[in-house]
Amino acid sequence: MPVRFISSWRLPAVCAALLVAGGAVGALAGAALVGVTVVALTEIVVLLSLFRHKPGPMLQSSATRPPEYDRLMTRTRRIASRLRDLRSAAGTLPDAVVLLDHSLHVRWFNHAAEELLGLKRPRDRGRPIAELLRNSELADWLTDGAREPLNDVTSPGHPNRHVTATLLPFGSRQRLLLARDTSHLTRLEQIRRDFVANVSHELRTPLTVIHGYLELLDPEDVPELAPVLDEMRAQSKRMGQIVEDLLTLSRLETQDHVADEHVQMAPLLASLRKEAEALSQGRHTVSLDIATSYDLLGSPKDLHSAFSNLVSNAVRYTPTGGRIAIRWAEDEGGARFSVQDSGFGIPAAHIARLTERFYRVSSSRSRDSGGTGLGLSIVKHVLNLHQARLSIESEPGKGSTFACVFGSDRLLDGTRLQEAAGLHP
Ligand code: ADP
Repeated sequence: MPVRFISSWRLPAVCAALLVAGGAVGALAGAALVGVTVVALTEIVVLLSLFRHKPGPMLQSSATRPPEYDRLMTRTRRIASRLRDLRSAAGTLPDAVVLLDHSLHVRWFNHAAEELLGLKRPRDRGRPIAELLRNSELADWLTDGAREPLNDVTSPGHPNRHVTATLLPFGSRQRLLLARDTSHLTRLEQIRRDFVANVSHELRTPLTVIHGYLELLDPEDVPELAPVLDEMRAQSKRMGQIVEDLLTLSRLETQDHVADEHVQMAPLLASLRKEAEALSQGRHTVSLDIATSYDLLGSPKDLHSAFSNLVSNAVRYTPTGGRIAIRWAEDEGGARFSVQDSGFGIPAAHIARLTERFYRVSSSRSRDSGGTGLGLSIVKHVLNLHQARLSIESEPGKGSTFACVFGSDRLLDGTRLQEAAGLHP
């Protein structure tokens, strides 16, 4: 009997030690450990009540009790009291904490989980979590394996709130579902987007007026001001382009999908080649290689804008005499549009940040070549909307290859086109 008792209280004691460590790791990890200890607490409370209410013959009087009994009871009570505190702390955490077993059935959850995830006590204990969160993005994410955290989705408990969720494995195939209310951040992000869109919209009209008047002025009327006039025209054009790019980005950011239109690649590629030649004005050798007959499914306007940004960058960041190769070819399970140049190249440290707004490797080079610093940001958003990705390979002094990689779902061949037109069963 004493041997069994000692081994039973070790589990919660270990949990208590883990909790102390958890506090140092951070609030979320601490919350996770608090969840785990709740199970231990239940066990220890049962154990205590057994001793209190059903003492065995050996434990009925202090004279006959084993000597370690009182000491172990005191320690067990102390641990149980600490675990009780932690349980009520977990209960008041602002983050939702749900303890799940190996088959994703609910074992325990705190008050925030009722608020944020719409769980109900005691009704939902023991039920499959995916069923409880049915018809929500969270349920789909859990069913798909929840390998990555899920950011900014509508809360199943509150349609006006947003949550970010993480699923952590622990113990023997158990899981902790953590969800944090991110409504405040979502609102701030919305305010930022609206502000940028409104400012850009408000600037558009006065800029058009200024640009119009500048075009009317003839430098020959005031020859000494001709260089100033040229500079003013170039800058007003640049400002106009920045405003247009910001408006494009605002529109792309608010979209969550694109129209599924048939994008014919052959004419699109031919027009991109013409654009490159017009921009280059004979300073580069431009080639086009169409190695597949696939077309794309998506937004013709947005895809043209993304591809055109890559072509324009290749021309602008390649010195005279360089080569620019535009290519459309099959890729593992999909297809890729790529633009290769023999230009300045990009040091490796900059590559991960190139799609950030206004991020430039060299500001003066970007400005001198008429850049806005928003082109690759637009490319990234357009590709996200098409479930495609941007691949960048570059070597300083040798050149760069920017490629848009599309999955098979976005590809259209002859058969799929006939299917789409209802000509096939
Ligand atoms: P920008 O209008 O400044 O060109 P982008 O968003 O299109 O803005 O590109 C961001 C930065 O990435 C550029 O300022 C430039 O430094 C770098 N970059 C983009 N394309 C190329 C390229 N083909 N070769 C070298 N550098 C490039």
